[in-house]
Amino acid sequence: MPLRRLLPLLLAACAAPSSPSPWTVADDVRPEFFFADDVSEDVRVAMAGALDAGIEAWGNYGPIEYWVVGMDVEAAEALAARYCDRRVARGDMTAQECASDVRRRRELRDWAARAAEIEATGQPFLEAGWNGGFEWGLHQFSSSLPPGWAGLADVRIEDDQTVLLHEYFHAVQQSHVTTLDWEARQRLMGPVWFVEGAAEYMAQTTGEALRRAGRLPTDPRFPGDPWRARDRMEQKLRSGLALRAERPGLALGEVDYGPDGQMAYDLGAWAIAWLCHRAGPDVLIERFYPAVEALGWEAAFGEAFGLTPAAFYAEFDRFLELDRAQQLAILAAAS
Ligand SMILES: [Zn+2]
Repeated sequence: MPLRRLLPLLLAACAAPSSPSPWTVADDVRPEFFFADDVSEDVRVAMAGALDAGIEAWGNYGPIEYWVVGMDVEAAEALAARYCDRRVARGDMTAQECASDVRRRRELRDWAARAAEIEATGQPFLEAGWNGGFEWGLHQFSSSLPPGWAGLADVRIEDDQTVLLHEYFHAVQQSHVTTLDWEARQRLMGPVWFVEGAAEYMAQTTGEALRRAGRLPTDPRFPGDPWRARDRMEQKLRSGLALRAERPGLALGEVDYGPDGQMAYDLGAWAIAWLCHRAGPDVLIERFYPAVEALGWEAAFGEAFGLTPAAFYAEFDRFLELDRAQQLAILAAAS
């Protein structure tokens, strides 16, 4: 299913390092959702519930603003206007600055138009992103209408839950770095496979654990067909290995967003599965991220996972050559 994710990180150059802001510490500020008027109550409740479950699992990194459009273009325009009203009211932007951000307005409108086509085409569409916001002391997210929760195109709600948890994990990652210097933040977050692989693997496995614990619902439309993280991970392995075969000269550590980006998501999720198999399922939350700003990415990696990134790349390459059963065996604890 072509769930494309938006990875905008639209930070203007924020040159000066700054002291810690509210978004760097777990707290009890409730996330705030801003829905377009045509988003149903069911979708609103489901999204808020999924975010609450993620917060319960990983900690509350806020304040959070979550902007969600539906299928109505006019309602999306109204949401964009509301976004600017809020920026101005908080003193984040002037009305003129926000009005000149045509990209955001166009994006929200396009998302609504695309969501409106789902029923006719049967093609699932979901764009979602963590959009930064730390220069204003918060985490911003935006999303098109999640098709599973909206009951469209036979997309399962478990997939929508996974996307939301994936985006929220980006806030968890980013909250462990306080500098506002954009390049320093990028270096501390590490390569794309690590950032996206961690968000994806944690979303897959934590989502499944939350459903098993009764903390997240399963999709009632598919009673005899349980959603399994293991199946989704196997799909990622197949797709990631196919992409790798197409680009034999492209090392995982070099994969960027863009045309080859999917490889970072697919094989990145497996790289994180491998690292968690080696160092424990909570290693990212308990060891890697708390250490990353003080140590830097490479040294924090070594401390948390017990090998250097270079040694990891060599071992992971060998892992990718194993047979499928041996590869899937490392998921045993997580699925
Ligand atoms: Zn992501």
